[in-house]
Amino acid sequence: MDTFSTISAVRSKVAEYKQARQRVALVPTMGALHKGHLSLFRLAAEKADTVMASIYVNPTQFAPGEDFEEYPRNLERDLELCQKEGISAVFTPSDEIMYPGDNQFLSFNITGLNDHLCGPRRFGHFEGVLLIVSKLFNIIQPDVAVFGQKDIQQYIILEHLVHQLNFPVTLVRGPIVRDKDGLALSSRNAYLNDKQRALAPALYRCLKYIKQQIADGAVNTSLLTGHQKAELEQKGLEVEYLSVVTYNSLKPVDRIESNGKYVVAGAAHTGATRLIDNFIVEI
Ligand code: AMP
Repeated sequence: MDTFSTISAVRSKVAEYKQARQRVALVPTMGALHKGHLSLFRLAAEKADTVMASIYVNPTQFAPGEDFEEYPRNLERDLELCQKEGISAVFTPSDEIMYPGDNQFLSFNITGLNDHLCGPRRFGHFEGVLLIVSKLFNIIQPDVAVFGQKDIQQYIILEHLVHQLNFPVTLVRGPIVRDKDGLALSSRNAYLNDKQRALAPALYRCLKYIKQQIADGAVNTSLLTGHQKAELEQKGLEVEYLSVVTYNSLKPVDRIESNGKYVVAGAAHTGATRLIDNFIVEI
């Protein structure tokens, strides 16, 4: 497995792959790899001849006051895992490489797609994601890029990015990998103490319940989310949002219509840890 930290080195490797007519899949990550990331590597291997990963804790996607400094970092272990998974090359750039000089002159402006769910609470987050993913797409020029459904708002905004900016890349969405009790795996789960860890899967159970109710014919979304929010809060989770939004526009809906594709999404805090999870439901 090759590891590259400069743009020129990773570009010449990609040129070799392309000359050998290999299709390249990229899996962007912030490291602290877990089974969710590994599942994306395996999915990428099904979609292309060569799998590349990037490991970079992107400062521009952390909102002010978020956990950029504390975010778990363990490059040595991550590289071992990548090697075991048969990754061909890993791109591990520094901040100086990704953001030379300073970066105050250019940013994305997202309209509408970040008005709900995580958008209003994570100021500048999705703009930072679009910036780093665009940079990675331009540097590596992958044929396929794999992202997780875990971050569904990110995934849908990236679908719009690829479509609107004509990136010649196919996006693939990997399913959420969960612990046995349903908790979605996340690098941030490392912050949970035993009590918080026991409480955390309640978010999964409540979103699953809402999804099932909708699949079984319930149409009034605010009734459903209102009840579930109260139950979660009674258990001790601090609910940031529970919402049903349309898949493509990420706008909340009060009533479920037939022939619709929806996302049932939630975010909740236990202690200092922020949990997110979601289900997609098609009627
Ligand atoms: P991160 O390192 O947190 O930026 O995540 C890198 C990629 O892994 C993103 O596309 C995430 O959506 C995805 N991911 C994170 N957690 C999971 C999970 N539990 N199952 C599947 N994919 C995940």
